[in-house]
Amino acid sequence: MSKNDPTIAADLRSWVETANAADSHFPIQNLPYGVFRPAAGAQPRVGVAIGDQILDLSYLERSGLLRTPAPLFAAASLNPFMARGPETWRSVRAQISSLLAAGTPTLRDDAAARAQALVPQSSATLLLPVEIPGYTDFYSSKEHATNVGALFRDPKNALLPNWLEIPIGYNGRASSVVVSGTPVHRPNGQIKLPGQERPVFSPCLKLDFELETGFFIGVPNGMAEPVACSDAESRIFGMVLLNDWSARDIQAWEYVPLGPFNAKGFATTISPWVVTMDALEPFRTRQPAQDPEPLPYLRHDGSHAFDIHLEVALRPQGRERAVTIARTNFKTMYWTMAQQLAHHTVSGCNTRVGDLMGSGTISGTDAGSYGSLLELTGNGKQPLDLGGTTRAFIEDGDEVTLTGWCQGDGYRVGFGECSGTILPALPTQG
Ligand code: CA
Repeated sequence: MSKNDPTIAADLRSWVETANAADSHFPIQNLPYGVFRPAAGAQPRVGVAIGDQILDLSYLERSGLLRTPAPLFAAASLNPFMARGPETWRSVRAQISSLLAAGTPTLRDDAAARAQALVPQSSATLLLPVEIPGYTDFYSSKEHATNVGALFRDPKNALLPNWLEIPIGYNGRASSVVVSGTPVHRPNGQIKLPGQERPVFSPCLKLDFELETGFFIGVPNGMAEPVACSDAESRIFGMVLLNDWSARDIQAWEYVPLGPFNAKGFATTISPWVVTMDALEPFRTRQPAQDPEPLPYLRHDGSHAFDIHLEVALRPQGRERAVTIARTNFKTMYWTMAQQLAHHTVSGCNTRVGDLMGSGTISGTDAGSYGSLLELTGNGKQPLDLGGTTRAFIEDGDEVTLTGWCQGDGYRVGFGECSGTILPALPTQG
């Protein structure tokens, strides 16, 4: 999609007035897709966030206001729509943009249709937007990998030799990806305490978040059909915020030699609105320089990073207010999404519609920009001051909220929130 795409023009305005506020995450330039129930007991359906409302695409489709090649939106996931590919994505986006534009009377001047087409976000329940066949998590922030290497290994050789050559990743757990707002139990597992010969079975004592983004595969590749780096972005349907909850003590004991397992597999939270690559196009920017130059299959010309401001807030148990504990930007990531997908498939590995790829923890260069408590507190050694209380790691009842947006000229293309509250661990049997 080019910068001439009329759906991303900075001066576009909607007749949905709340969409025109300068700090709204959901202006007419965004149009992110999600799945929702308008009321308890109602069937799930696909919608688009606009201001403080949701546009019900199943209604538009049913009433003939939206032309699609087949019924796509009276569905419990975005997968049928995603599977149709970029031509349908763009046709639907263009039609929705036109229907919501300030100058289009179709819905604007039809109170009866408008009452059916728009649902206040405050009265809807947002569901997991995508049926996720596979979840892969990368490790692509150089700052994060350096910080973790310094904490767990050797500060002088914090980056392992393969890190600058490979977008490091592992195959994660898709079954436990949940939508924002879903409470998460503190995991139990094996923990090796200092000075002890054998591990104990215990609730996690070092529970952490990881600030990440994720992207969804819209155009899959088959086995033995590697995706070229130059072709990779065209296969991405869109992006979400992603919290890769991490049990640091379980991780430290189990991760050698095959990497994290129970430390990461218990839950991953994503934001409910999938922001499309078309909406992100104006925020494309240059990725960091790569040295050494990657192997040929990981090379791409031009700009492949995206300028997405990101924040993490923690609301301690029993407190009214959350405290912002980290601010950073997605554009600092060393490896791009295109390189991640090219590397993932270069062996001949296939992908499926709805596969989720996590960026890896996004950390900047200074202490206020770290995307995990592990880094923010030096593995718990320097607890954060949250105004009257401190945190080394996450405690029961704490709520962690990620948010993020792209700053346009007078508008924001936002991701909304990715939030989760930690519940106590289930009773342990020892
Ligand atoms: Ca991670």
